[in-house]
Amino acid sequence: MRNYPFNLHSHTNFSDGSNPPDDYIKAAIKTGLEIYGFSDHAPIPKIKCNWCIKKDMLKDYFRQIRKIQKENKHKIKILVGLEVDYIPEIIKPSDFHVYKPDYIIGSVHFLKLKDKNSLVEIDSGFKKFEDGMKKHFNGNIEQITKYYYSQIIDLIKSGGFQILGHVDKIRVWIERINPEVLKSDWYNELIKEVAEESFKSGIYVEINTRGMYKGVTNEPYPSWDFIKILDSYNVKMILNADTHRPDGVDSYYGVTLLKLEIMDVKNLVVYIHK
Ligand SMILES: [Zn+2]
Ligand SMILES: [Zn+2]
Repeated sequence: MRNYPFNLHSHTNFSDGSNPPDDYIKAAIKTGLEIYGFSDHAPIPKIKCNWCIKKDMLKDYFRQIRKIQKENKHKIKILVGLEVDYIPEIIKPSDFHVYKPDYIIGSVHFLKLKDKNSLVEIDSGFKKFEDGMKKHFNGNIEQITKYYYSQIIDLIKSGGFQILGHVDKIRVWIERINPEVLKSDWYNELIKEVAEESFKSGIYVEINTRGMYKGVTNEPYPSWDFIKILDSYNVKMILNADTHRPDGVDSYYGVTLLKLEIMDVKNLVVYIHK
């Protein structure tokens, strides 16, 4: 696929994005996108989350985007979804089915430690990640990586969502601490397990370009090697920008598509909304 006029991962000012939904649609139409989806961060119970939609704004979020969806139906197909965290005993994607979203992206941004109330933040900067790793995983990158993927597998098994978000987000910290981990046999086995479970559950795994345009990594989430394995397991993949601004509705799509073509990836598809 040379051209990929779709993006289902975006954040507006309902959560941690910069602009109201309408501005993204204007940009998407201008860019020539055919399907555009909103996936603001769902609120997380019991946790102070300053990048989530406030719970009392959720209805407004759906109402406002459904309105834009109708107004633009002859110009672009708009979907309204949510990016929902998976934290055992705290939050899971199916908790939000009551709002009837068109789709849900399931993501892991926090690790929940068994028998403890503390969480380790994966996506709030290196310092917080490193502190959590030192405190709860003996400062051991292997331990925390294994734990991260066990939570990813639990997310896949818990179901109730359609798209798996930035599956190897922890990779940026592994690259920084010990990139050799990414070449190890055990890491490869973990990736294969994720691929197998993803295929069994029928979910789409997103190829997320955010790390590239943010300049934190040279590869998408998941990495090229990870994508190769997903492809060999026939896991359906979609390309997403995870944009937080209207000027990034298809950021880094060109280079990513070119690389996927060179790699001869067979399972890049278009998300089918049922
Ligand atoms: Zn995310
Ligand atoms: Zn996101």
